[in-house]
Amino acid sequence: MNLSRSIPFFNYPALFAEKERELTEVVLGICRRGAYILQKDLAEFEKHLAELMGVKHAFGVANGTDAIWLGLMAVGVGPGDEVILPSHTYIATAAAVHFVGATPVLADIGSDHMLDAASAEEFITPRTKAIMPVQVNGRTCDMDALQAIADRHEVMIVEDAAQGLGSRFKDKSAGTFGNFGTISFYPAKLLGCFGDGGAVVTNDDAVAEKLVLLRDHGRNDKGRVVVWGFNSRLDNLQAAVLDFKLKTFHKDITRRRAIAECYQARLGAMRELILPPAPDADPRHFDVYQNYELEAERRDELRAYLEKHGVRTIIQWAGTPVHQFHELGFKNVKLPNTDRFFTRCLMLPMNTSLSDDDIDYICDQICAFYGYSV
Ligand SMILES: *Cc1c(COP(=O)(O)O)cnc(C)c1O
Repeated sequence: MNLSRSIPFFNYPALFAEKERELTEVVLGICRRGAYILQKDLAEFEKHLAELMGVKHAFGVANGTDAIWLGLMAVGVGPGDEVILPSHTYIATAAAVHFVGATPVLADIGSDHMLDAASAEEFITPRTKAIMPVQVNGRTCDMDALQAIADRHEVMIVEDAAQGLGSRFKDKSAGTFGNFGTISFYPAKLLGCFGDGGAVVTNDDAVAEKLVLLRDHGRNDKGRVVVWGFNSRLDNLQAAVLDFKLKTFHKDITRRRAIAECYQARLGAMRELILPPAPDADPRHFDVYQNYELEAERRDELRAYLEKHGVRTIIQWAGTPVHQFHELGFKNVKLPNTDRFFTRCLMLPMNTSLSDDDIDYICDQICAFYGYSV
């Protein structure tokens, strides 16, 4: 067994230290040019992001939450409409629906922990305007199943792909299936900036035109205000940092997938755990492991044991799926899979700062907890 060590869930300083010189140059370059708002670095990043995702338009906005409600506004979701989304998501997804005046309707997850198409269909009403799958943990939902339901009921698909950048379903990128998709560049996300940032992507020219106006005070390229708009721009500084990090994005994902392989190899046979799908488990899915979220028996005890041995874990959304926030008016919403999942779910460290020895150490501790020899 390894000697004891201390493994943070996410190591922000280490991530910066790896590229300190280059990142400092990027930041200084922007400051020396005094290029802060809607400058060429943003335009370049947007172009590269669109290329990476295989989508026509990408727009940087202030954060991943704004991205969702700006997107909803651009496609015309508003008062009186309902939007179906999984309860296994960040409150931001539901809040974005709320703030365009529509009603968030929460559906259950399937055995893959993603929005369950059958559950989504049960919640369709004449008011349903859109289904919003959340591409959680760096995996894309079974979009064929969701699209079939959307087609059958003539509702839109819009995607919260805050956690999904780089993941694919049948070779199509998360965020590019519906009328729009959103990405978050929160520092701990797959592609993280030095603060808040987000993007909306779309293949629809009309939606793109609205987004450009909505994020910048409703001003067109001549500076004339043609609609009511907001200030929700991605800082040029953040865009430059993101554009730099985009260069190693594929390498980072390769590393994350390798870490997932290691967890799979060491923990896959343990009956006390249900792991996320292994990287090559299903050829339709390309997963990028934004998070490594598993189900564990005696979850809270395991978590305390790992903590005691220096391994920091997290229970996603602080342990509460959206439908359990009764204060927000969600009453009598019955989602048995989600309820059960949230008594069992746990996220192990998953990031590019982890060494192979770190992973081994984490797995050793889990084996020891459940009484397996190491
Ligand atoms: C991070 C996240 C968001 C919000 O993104 P911010 O950039 O923090 O506003 C929305 N939805 C999901 C699923 C997320 O993980």
